[in-house]
Amino acid sequence: MVLDGRIAVVTGASRGIGRAIALALAERGAAVLVNYASNDAAAEETAQLIRNNGGRVLTFKANVAEPAEAASMVKAAVAEFGAVDILVNNAGITRDNFILRMKDEDWDQVLGVNLKGAFNCARAAAKVMVKNRSGRIINISSVVALIGNASQANYCAAKAGLIGLTRAMAKELGSRNITVNAVAPGFITTEMTDGLPEEVKEMMLSQIPLKRFGGPEEVAETVAFLASDAARYITGQTIAVDGGMSCA
Ligand code: NAP
Repeated sequence: MVLDGRIAVVTGASRGIGRAIALALAERGAAVLVNYASNDAAAEETAQLIRNNGGRVLTFKANVAEPAEAASMVKAAVAEFGAVDILVNNAGITRDNFILRMKDEDWDQVLGVNLKGAFNCARAAAKVMVKNRSGRIINISSVVALIGNASQANYCAAKAGLIGLTRAMAKELGSRNITVNAVAPGFITTEMTDGLPEEVKEMMLSQIPLKRFGGPEEVAETVAFLASDAARYITGQTIAVDGGMSCA
């Protein structure tokens, strides 16, 4: 149980990659705060899966784009479990459109959740981690931050911003024994990608050297590694979990 006794906050953990991350951290012994935006039933399902395995869990509804809600979430983890050792900034949304048609609100919402949300949560959690002289922050970026993607200017900018945020925080917080890394998933089968047109999926598949889409648990295993002591000398890095999509 490599994360025995650790306390993790995972944003956007009701479904998809966030749920897989919450389960992977709990399986390794961490107590987990499962954050979500609106889907009470899905968040409860994640929590039940953790409880069934004997894990400790708390669900917490909060919009990470709102600084006060992100701060309340971190406070709730400290009140329930006593600390925050691991923060995974996973909550994310897409509002795709070509740049000429992209509305201001599509830009603002995507930057608000994916980038400002991570900043809001990291700022709140880092206060606790600095006091404890220990912590792990893992930001879920995307392969499109590295290679770009048409019709996702807002999402690509937010996810590339996360890589800059990761590097800056790694430099700032390293002296307090806090590591900050990013994981850049490729095409992972979740509700976020289920809705994409078949021709987009086929085009994506043709760009993946491993010739298949990834599963949420394959991202979660990398996150669990970065959260563990085995990764204690890794900081400021972005690890692509993308079947080789970004290596071309
Ligand atoms: P998903 O299935 O759409 O799940 C999104 C999660 O984020 C849900 O738990 C949702 O909560 C939560 N969320 C959305 N807005 C939120 C907000 N304002 N505050 C708090 N939580 C919020 O997405 P996914 O595919 O698992 O993606 C997870 C992360 O990986 C995202 O950051 C995404 O950008 C990134 N990613 C995904 C892929 C992929 O291929 N799937 C590839 C690269 C990167 P509710 O259930 O309450 O709505």
